[in-house]
Amino acid sequence: MSQEFDVVVIGAGPGGYIAAIRAAQLGFKTACIDAFKGSDGQPALGGTCLNVGCIPSKALLQSSEHFHAVKHSFAEHGINVKSPSFDAAQMIARKDGIVQKLTSGVAFLFKKNKVTSLHGLGSLKGRDNEKWQIEVRDGGKVVDTVSASHVIIATGSRPRPLPGVEIDNQTVLDNTGALAMTSTPKRLGVIGAGVIGLEMGSVWARVGSQVTILEALPTFLGAADSQIAREALRTLTKDTGLTIHTGVKIGNVKVGKTVTLEYEKDGKAETLTVDKLIVAVGRVPNTDGLGGEAVNLQMDERGFVVVDDSCHTNLPNVWAIGDVVRGPMLAHKAMEEGVAVAERIAGQKPHVDFGSIPWVIYTSPEIAWVGKTEDQLKKEGVAYKKGTAPFAPNGRALGMGQAQGTVKILADAETDRILGMHVIGPMASELITEGVLSLEFKAASEDIARIVHAHPSLSEAVHEAALACDKRALHG
Ligand code: FAD
Ligand code: NAD
Repeated sequence: MSQEFDVVVIGAGPGGYIAAIRAAQLGFKTACIDAFKGSDGQPALGGTCLNVGCIPSKALLQSSEHFHAVKHSFAEHGINVKSPSFDAAQMIARKDGIVQKLTSGVAFLFKKNKVTSLHGLGSLKGRDNEKWQIEVRDGGKVVDTVSASHVIIATGSRPRPLPGVEIDNQTVLDNTGALAMTSTPKRLGVIGAGVIGLEMGSVWARVGSQVTILEALPTFLGAADSQIAREALRTLTKDTGLTIHTGVKIGNVKVGKTVTLEYEKDGKAETLTVDKLIVAVGRVPNTDGLGGEAVNLQMDERGFVVVDDSCHTNLPNVWAIGDVVRGPMLAHKAMEEGVAVAERIAGQKPHVDFGSIPWVIYTSPEIAWVGKTEDQLKKEGVAYKKGTAPFAPNGRALGMGQAQGTVKILADAETDRILGMHVIGPMASELITEGVLSLEFKAASEDIARIVHAHPSLSEAVHEAALACDKRALHG
């Protein structure tokens, strides 16, 4: 007998689990179907983000940053540690504990909000009497059939394969394997200097691997502001110790006990031999097993589910959110879309502003931005002014031993409205929120310049950058 729901969410990543909770809060009888199984073979909620993405990567970044600090900066604080050693297996075990805590937290939230959690692959079967039929399969067998007035597709993404390079998660790894290595490879290769490549490369470089990153594009971090990207390349190379080659063309990749990559750079043939290789060349939308074709769900040529501005698909009462649709593949974007869709189903009129979604790369120093880059403003012919402030004279950053980096604010030359904020420096991930607020509240640089910022704090660099927009920085 099919269970009937008002809303069924397919996928329990950050988009799906948040959509399910919000739908339940709004009084809908809600179920969430998810297929993910952890390395122990057990179902685990939270999707890519909690299991093999945002959360585990940040846990490893923190552990490796501590180790790097013990080795390279404790002595200047007068703390002398003789021959610190590193235990990769313990780092991974700690990460697994954090993942477990958060994924079981989602299960708790489902119970608390009376969301029915179903394990298996959900596929759309058709619509009858204004109700969508969804089949749930596990291990190839149908374990449940449910029906719902509204369906929210939140099936996320998976690593983009690189033709000719097979992932075995032993020697050649995707993000799942990169987050589970229990020993430090002497030589680590990474294909792709994107967000995963830089974060994972940083983790293993800090704990002693010789890391070489091979990037196809000629420019480094093309999506970031170019001034910040240049500064990032300098510090990641010099301080973290990453070797980064841009503009390479990957050729033959031979896998044995080690991996030998042939590649071309500046017209010259090169080879790189490493003990492990991480492939991080982007992600593709996940619609496998969803049954989209059978019900004529519209997908684009790259496999993304096509949605309108309100995340509605071409099918009645079928919505899609997160990585499986257009827009940045970010957990916070997926979550906001999840909330918005649940509220739209309830007849509300929420709005997700794509112009103020922050980006963060959790390297050391961290890199974060929101809004327009200088290059974008130039291209759009917008007259702008800029204010920059280094962390070098910031008392809090100096005390932390992390007085590296810059805050840059871009504001409209005429109206002074803030159009973008770019940070490379300590806790950029937290500082960027002031930029997001500025964009959302349509603040002028003058507004930020007039706000009292705590002293000593990293946020004073944001204050200084705002003052610098009006050429009245006090410490610059
Ligand atoms: P997902 O999290 O991918 O979840 C989709 C879920 O649906 C999965 O559990 C999947 O198994 C399940 N599923 C798929 N098909 C079906 C089906 N037919 N039936 C049932 N279930 C199905 N983003 C950030 O914002 N910050 C970060 O720091 C960050 N770090 C990252 C680090 C790494 C290594 C990676 C890989 C990604 C990172 N991301 C980060 C991106 C972030 O993980 C994604 O943007 C986010 O998880 C997308 O959420 P989602 O809900 O759309 O999909
Ligand atoms: P990405 O798009 O950030 O980077 C992939 C990189 O690989 C690009 O620079 C691309 O030019 C390069 N590339 C592609 N094909 C190549 C080839 N054949 N040879 C060499 N280089 C090649 O993708 P990713 O790093 O795999 O991460 C996927 C997504 O996950 C990100 O776009 C992001 O949305 C999300 N993510 C976010 C965070 C965060 O917010 N901190 C962290 C990790 C991942």
